[in-house]
Amino acid sequence: MTRFNTQLVHGLPVGDNNTGAVNPPIYNSTTYAFERVDAMPRYDYARSGNPTRDFLEQQIAQLEQGTRGFAFASGLAAIHAVLSIFKPGDRIVVGDNIYGGSYSQLNEFFTRWGIIVEAVDTQDIAALEASVKGDRANGIAPAQAVYFETLTNPLLKVNDVRAISTVAHRFGALSIVDNTFVTPYLQKPLALGADVVIHSATKYLAGHSDVNAGLVVVSGEDLA
Ligand SMILES: *Cc1c(COP(=O)(O)O)cnc(C)c1O
Repeated sequence: MTRFNTQLVHGLPVGDNNTGAVNPPIYNSTTYAFERVDAMPRYDYARSGNPTRDFLEQQIAQLEQGTRGFAFASGLAAIHAVLSIFKPGDRIVVGDNIYGGSYSQLNEFFTRWGIIVEAVDTQDIAALEASVKGDRANGIAPAQAVYFETLTNPLLKVNDVRAISTVAHRFGALSIVDNTFVTPYLQKPLALGADVVIHSATKYLAGHSDVNAGLVVVSGEDLA
């Protein structure tokens, strides 16, 4: 198998250009012409996709060893999209040490939306298990998901992706990991059992403090 450093540079063939350019061209066009009025082109409008974004999404998907990648305008937009798969009444167990912006989005937006957010020390596997399990006798169903950071921002607590994902799956919950501080260079959460990996690509993935971006990679087609 190709080694990681090679995957970073040559992991995806740059097939989409007419010039032989070795870097993926940047498409600025918001709108694409239809060849015929009844054509169904892959690209029609940039909000729903463009070739540059597709390349980025495929690149992060292969680096995180997932099936599909998704790119967003910020890390918080990525988190918002992921958590939007849940519905009012769903309970999500969240690491008690997470990025402040994620905390605010969960507790100021998603709670108003009807999501039940339950904070837990995800380094304490017994406490995590009790929280994910819920309490059927008292009408508390198992959680739908566990949400945590591999290495937490800002306190740099290390979370065990494999152990947390095992607990989540035991109760049918998804394991959702914010891998921003680690990057796939150091750890690939999907390979350790997580279902969804999120990045604020604004941080270590972009690397130069000059881009706001968010990325998500999922393990399977259903989730994608
Ligand atoms: C910065 C950060 C986010 C939010 O990402 P933005 O790109 O700033 O929206 C989410 N999670 C972690 C761990 C972060 O450090």
